[in-house]
Order: sequence, then structure tokens, then C-alpha cells
Amino acid sequence: MNKPLTLKVASIERETDDAVTIHLKQPMLRKVRYSAGQYLTLEVEVDGVKGCRAYSISSTPGLDKTLSITVKRVAGGKVSNQLVQQLSAGDVVQTLGTHGRFTFAPQPGSRRHIVLLAAGSGITPIFSILKSALHFEPDSQVSLIYGNRNTGSVIFRDKLEQLQRTFGERLKLVHVLSQPEAPAAQGGRLTQQRLVELLRALPDSGAQTREYYSCGPGGMMDEVTAALTSMGIAAESVHQERFTPAKAAAVAPVSEAPKRVQLLMQGQEFSFMVPSGQTLLEAALASGVTPPFSCRAGFCTACVCTRLAGDVRMREDHGLSTAELNMGQALLCVGYPLTDNVRLQVH
Ligand SMILES: Cc1cc2nc3c(=O)[nH]c(=O)nc-3n(C[C@H](O)[C@H](O)[C@H](O)COP(=O)(O)OP(=O)(O)OC[C@H]3O[C@@H](n4cnc5c(N)ncnc54)[C@H](O)[C@@H]3O)c2cc1C
Repeated sequence: MNKPLTLKVASIERETDDAVTIHLKQPMLRKVRYSAGQYLTLEVEVDGVKGCRAYSISSTPGLDKTLSITVKRVAGGKVSNQLVQQLSAGDVVQTLGTHGRFTFAPQPGSRRHIVLLAAGSGITPIFSILKSALHFEPDSQVSLIYGNRNTGSVIFRDKLEQLQRTFGERLKLVHVLSQPEAPAAQGGRLTQQRLVELLRALPDSGAQTREYYSCGPGGMMDEVTAALTSMGIAAESVHQERFTPAKAAAVAPVSEAPKRVQLLMQGQEFSFMVPSGQTLLEAALASGVTPPFSCRAGFCTACVCTRLAGDVRMREDHGLSTAELNMGQALLCVGYPLTDNVRLQVH
């Protein structure tokens, strides 16, 4: 679903002191279609300024009635604080649709070991995947290694325990707490070495293959990548979602003269100049044009568009597959016009 849609809040559920799940009503006639692992882009106005943010969907398609997102407050964060503190049942939220390539498609006949690695709010898409695997892949085993500060900060703690009771040995839960309230067997941080130990200790119980899905803060994701690489895990079996960029943005390509760009969006055409060194997104926003966007770093793909004319260079193209790049797709947030009169169709 890549279309803007207004959704009504059905209820708000407190998960921890600083995180809530926002349950959104599914429209009767135009249900929002999504895959486990995808995110919803919200457009939220804070102090008169509109901003877009991605929130992974914590509900599971085919299982949960509402479309739910789980938001954790970020210190000083504009949108997350507004959502956690001010939203209530009956309010409406503007969405720009569901996006994302971090998806899980259940394979009902397979005997896999789905290994999930999460920390903090990174549990959100992982929780959707976990439920999908348990319910729709009955012969597969699921393990979750989940890092948090302490017991009180564990999002979905009760729901995970309930799933553990329901699914028994098919679900292995490993909580790792960096500042446990009391001495805990699984204390500490999810470092590369710790992850390797924990991953090696997981029983495979007859599973034929392992698939890895991870989501968490940048530092934890780097440790996961290092651990899986050191264990020789094939890249095809590893799926990752980042909420924050992996590394600082590379230096922008130099473009001396400002370039004219035409953006086709929702049946309208917008024309603006892109000064040297500005990304397409920065120039669009500076001209009062607001395409969908979220991460501003080339990995969430909310600002994907197709090039109809002219040339665009991207400083970061990991968000798009080779096939998509070959089809002329580009990301506004990391794209620079190389020629004048670049024409782009926003998806
Ligand atoms: C694909 C994707 C999925 C996401 N899913 C979720 C989700 O399920 N739940 C959720 O709570 N968030 C999620 N996020 C993060 C979310 O989109 C926002 O970035 C986050 O809520 C902060 O927005 P803000 O407006 O409150 O902060 P801002 O006002 O944008 O930033 C305030 C400060 O916080 C820092 N900051 C921004 N984002 C983060 C972050 N994620 N962690 C730590 N510091 C940050 C900024 O550098 C800045 O210093 C996701 C992000 C992406 C790209």
C-alpha cells in the first residue's frame, strides 16, 4: 500500500514507561495490505511543522484485526514524544502507506529455524515476524535473542511470555539485560562475542536451515553483522532493518550549477531548482514540496521515485536492489541531479 490514507486510532496500549502500541482501525472497504516486517510511514504535524517518520508494524497480517505500530519515545524527539504522550483513541493519523523490504513470508511446509535478534524498539517488526512464523509455519522453530536495559524496559514482555506458554518448545526466548534489577543469568550487552555464544547455544531441533532477522540500534546491528560474518553465515540468510543509518553519509558529489527538477506526485507536477550539494529531497522541502520521506539516509526507501528524464547520482544505493536501480529507480534523500531538467515520478 503506497497510497496516503487517514486511519483512526482504535486504542492505545502502554507497553513500557516510554513505549506504546497504537492500534489503528482497518478501513472496511480499503484494508491496508502489508507483510510482516514492513513499516507504516506517518505524517505528523508538530508545532505547525509536518514531518514524516517510519514506524514498523507490530501486528501480523492474517492474524491481528488492527494495524498496529509500537512507538518508543526518543529523548528530545519531536514525533515520537507527540505520539506516545498525546495520541488517544478516536484521533486520526495521516499515513503515506506501508513500505519496506525487511519482510517475512511464511512457508507453511518448511522446517526452518527462524532466528530473531532484537534490541529496544527494534522488537517491533521482529514481533510481527515472530507471530507470523509461529502461527503460519507450524514445523519451524523460532528463537528470539532480545536485548534491553532492564525488565521494565522490555516491550511485549507479557505477550512474549504468553506466546511461550502457547507454543512451548517451538519458541526459545533469550532475554539479555544490560542493567538488570537483580543479578541475572543473561546479563550484559549484545556484543559480537556474546552473540556468537548465544547463537551457538541455540538448539536446531531437526530444522533444515536457519534464517536470521535482526533489528535494533546501530551499535547492536554492527555487532550482529560482525557475529554472523564471523560464523560464516551466508548473506542470503541474513535480513536486517535499521532505524538509524549504519554510517555517516558520504561526501556529496560536486555539481557546480543549480539544476531544474520536475517532480510528478499524486497527479501534480512540481518544479524547483536544486542548488549545488543539496539532495533532491532537501531542495524539494526548501521549495515547499513535500514528497514522502523518513530516514533521510537512503535505507528506508520511503522517498523512492522513478527517473523519467535526466541523470541522478546517489551517494548511497544499498536501499535499492540492482533490478530496481536498472529500472531507473532513485531515492530523493540521497540523490543529486547530474543534468538539468531531471524528471522524476514519485511512487
Ligand atoms: C524503517 C524504520 C522503522 C522504524 N520503526 C520504528 C518503530 O517501530 N518504533 C519506533 O519507536 N521507532 C521506529 N523508527 C524510528 C522513527 O522513525 C523515528 O526516527 C523516531 O521515532 C524518532 O523520531 P522523532 O521525531 O521523535 O525524533 P527526531 O526529532 O527526528 O530526532 C530527535 C533526536 O533523536 C535522534 N534519533 C532519531 N531517531 C532515533 C532513533 N530511532 N533512536 C535513537 N535516536 C534517534 C536524532 O538523531 C535526534 O538527535 C523507525 C525508523 C525507520 C527508518
